[in-house]
Amino acid sequence: MHRKLLLLIAILFFSKDVKPQPNQDLHLFVYNVGFNGLTAGIGSMINKSKSTKLHTAFIQGLWKGSVGGLFIYAGKKTTYLINKEKTYLYGWPAKLIHSVGLSVTENAALAKPAFANYHINLGLTRLDFNLEKKSKIQVRILPVSLITILFGFKEGRRFDFDKTIRTGETIFTHPTNTLLQNRLLGDFTEAYSLGGCLVFAKDVSEPFQLFSHELVHQFQYRENMIFSTWLPKQNKRASTQKSKKGIFKYFYPEVPSFWLVYVADGIQPPPNYFKNFYEFEAERFSTNKYVPR
Ligand SMILES: [Zn+2]
Repeated sequence: MHRKLLLLIAILFFSKDVKPQPNQDLHLFVYNVGFNGLTAGIGSMINKSKSTKLHTAFIQGLWKGSVGGLFIYAGKKTTYLINKEKTYLYGWPAKLIHSVGLSVTENAALAKPAFANYHINLGLTRLDFNLEKKSKIQVRILPVSLITILFGFKEGRRFDFDKTIRTGETIFTHPTNTLLQNRLLGDFTEAYSLGGCLVFAKDVSEPFQLFSHELVHQFQYRENMIFSTWLPKQNKRASTQKSKKGIFKYFYPEVPSFWLVYVADGIQPPPNYFKNFYEFEAERFSTNKYVPR
């Protein structure tokens, strides 16, 4: 009995055919907590008050940003429920949890209390809620999102009102095309994310899985806006406290830095498609299955 057990253990651990699969969930957990912790830590050093020491500002930003990263991870995990339960309505809790994470990380990077300000992106607008301010709600237009929505409308042609209400994301669904040309990446696809909106072909093979995959890309786009907090002038203009006058009262200075990091990571056709980290992350969260890379 014991010999058989030992033999089984030996086969499991030493057989060349049994390759241990890397723990992709752990990988993504560490990435999300680490990315938000580090970016907020650096932001906190840039935006600290004169009286705060540099290392203190970093540690404060690091731990608060890590908490933001936990919410961001939880929001992305929630996107799988859309695929599992075959309902778009899970898009809302995913988006709400994710936006709590975005807000906590942004506050940390601006060297503010973790829950000082809550923001959420809705279509071409950014909504800010701040209970300590006189005007507690501020609505601003996201100029790049506005441009992508116009582009999405041109490419998708039909505004999908039903899906937009169900998911909280602006969606265009082409009335006839079963494949769309992705003019930005130069290939044909069933759907793509533009940051401000999503464009879908008419009949897609796995609509719920596809939507949760694309929703993760929307989230990645928003997470990478954290780099705006590193730009001191930009930050002061974007800060809700200093944006009462001028153009920044109506427009949020949106920097689409995600496009840069996405392209910089390399875009390769299958079977190397998921070598791109952002594609891997979107696929893993939307399928909850091992993604070969
Ligand atoms: Zn993708």
